Amino acid sequence: MKKITKELIDEFYNLLSPCRVCPRKCKVDRLKGEIGNCKAGSEVKISSYHQHFGEEPPLVGKHGSGTIFFTHCNLHCVYCQNYEISQLGMGREVALEELARMMLRLQNLGCHNINFVTPTPWVPQIIRALSIAQEKGLNIPLVYNCGGYEAIETLRLLDGIVDIYMPDIKYADNEYAEKYSSAPKYWDIMRPALKEMHSQVGDLVVENGIAKKGLLIRHLVLPNNIAGSKKCFEFISQELSKNTVVNPMAQYYPTFKAVRFQKINRRITAQEYRQALADLERNCLDKGFKQTIDTIFRSVVPEWTDNLKNTN
Ligand code: SF4
Repeated sequence: MKKITKELIDEFYNLLSPCRVCPRKCKVDRLKGEIGNCKAGSEVKISSYHQHFGEEPPLVGKHGSGTIFFTHCNLHCVYCQNYEISQLGMGREVALEELARMMLRLQNLGCHNINFVTPTPWVPQIIRALSIAQEKGLNIPLVYNCGGYEAIETLRLLDGIVDIYMPDIKYADNEYAEKYSSAPKYWDIMRPALKEMHSQVGDLVVENGIAKKGLLIRHLVLPNNIAGSKKCFEFISQELSKNTVVNPMAQYYPTFKAVRFQKINRRITAQEYRQALADLERNCLDKGFKQTIDTIFRSVVPEWTDNLKNTN
């Protein structure tokens, strides 16, 4: 991680007033306590932090991923599985010194990385906390685990700080993104954001089974092809890299407000997941995960495909 200077922190904080931390660019003054679309204020809020063993295998290793779940989100998915945290504001405000202590505690527990979940609205505050943790010896990889709806200006400032970007690709269609996640122009905004991420960290590098650096993309397959999986994979293959590690996820279930939407009011079928895997293969994206079809309706455990035990 590059040294986080006072000048760099000032640049990040400048994005809060008026707020343009994410592509929504609400222009509210977060430093004065104004609230924008995501409902995040000036004091960072988290719902939990812990060693997480349910993330992708190269993040988990033996000692887990040091996960910090932030409250609020700049996406508003009607099917969000964490809606109490992301949309109903569950969590508590913490001082930045405390946030830094959490990172150090997770490192001391042996976690292989610090995994910031939904960091987008809080990037400036996270950076200030990181500078405190950095002074006290934080040195494990940092994971930026987000929904892919990111501002280029913010991402550029993160260059040299984030080691592993783990964005979702949620939709290949702006209208569906607006309808199901209230995210205008998602497809137009997500693609340059992912290109910026890839240009900073490249393809995922895994050493001795542990991810060190790079891009790892999650894609939740939705019923009735609402996620546009084929188009998403074509974009990754043609405009990022055929070596991109992709996790096509099968675990969608209709929760929160999803039951009100006829096209997403069910789980995906085995055939829909099979089709997504075929599209992935057709685009030569074979360095990732796949979930065994017969586990889709049970507990789903991602497994490595054979060719990504080690990228070195
Ligand atoms: S971070 Fe929140 S307040 Fe700031 S631009 Fe994005 S949605 Fe608006």
